[in-house]
Amino acid sequence: MQRIDGAAVAAKVMDETKVRIAALAARGIRPGLAVVLVGDDPASRAYVRSKDRKAAELGLHSVKHELPADTTQAVLIALVAELNADPAVHGILVQSPPPPQINEAEVVLAIDPRKDVDGFHPVNVAKLAMEDPTGFVPCTPLGCIRLLQETGLETAGKSAVVVGRSMIVGKPMALLLMKRGPGGDATVTVAHSRTQNLAEVTRRADIVIAAIGRPHFLGAEHIREGAVVIDVGINRMEDPQHPKGYRLVGDVDYDAVAAKCAAITPVPGGVGPMTIAMLMSNCVTAAERLNS
Ligand code: NDP
Repeated sequence: MQRIDGAAVAAKVMDETKVRIAALAARGIRPGLAVVLVGDDPASRAYVRSKDRKAAELGLHSVKHELPADTTQAVLIALVAELNADPAVHGILVQSPPPPQINEAEVVLAIDPRKDVDGFHPVNVAKLAMEDPTGFVPCTPLGCIRLLQETGLETAGKSAVVVGRSMIVGKPMALLLMKRGPGGDATVTVAHSRTQNLAEVTRRADIVIAAIGRPHFLGAEHIREGAVVIDVGINRMEDPQHPKGYRLVGDVDYDAVAAKCAAITPVPGGVGPMTIAMLMSNCVTAAERLNS
């Protein structure tokens, strides 16, 4: 069994990104990332902090906007418009989920698709579906494909089952796996909460991508001998032994599954570090495109 080292692949992506940043710097261009957080959800705050820290580490122009939980839709849309117009900002990200008074779809629509480094704008969703490489692809599924490629795991002709159909992970994951070319060409099935006999469906897969949001949901009975398992899930599980009182676990019961699969990503240290590395890469791509 191969334990897929997400941190090592993410470090490689970051090194490549540094080279591209240096090439832009030689032309007097510094990529800029603006991260907007509305409210004080602790998990969102932690994500925003780590994105900001990584951007600063790379020497990007990094701006963080922290807005109060009662921010109105109009104020948020006005900030997005300001960032769209700011030539020092190439990537804009509004951390999800926003408080209930915010219409998230409308906010995403307000972001200039050329600065939509999360790949959530309908223009970018359509470009992914159309296999148009000029769009932005959501960072987590993009990171999963890169992990498979870097680990030398072939997707072409393989049977892949994606469990989860969210716009952030499941759907773009399925589109990437079915896309023509390297990292794609798989025969893809998408499962979700209405799928019957899930274990039967996932047991047919050469590659299982778990993006469910339920701790240790997939066990040994879901995975066939020799399959490749990519665990996107990040869930808190109570653990009195842990200093924080909880630990992070995936959607896959790693200990139960690891023995029978060919390769598997751990949580933490699998998909998580890739997401942030791909975000940095997308931001640099935005700066390159806006200055081409
Ligand atoms: P969502 O809640 O948006 O989607 C979950 C999906 O899982 C839905 O499509 C849902 O089906 C499906 N599902 C729920 N219960 C079942 C079930 N019993 N059987 C089969 N399918 C089920 O979550 P996200 O896609 O945003 O995130 C998924 C996980 O990935 C979470 O743990 C999240 O924390 C993690 N994540 C990790 C990232 C990383 O960087 N590693 C980044 C983003 C997310 P239905 O559509 O029918 O409701």
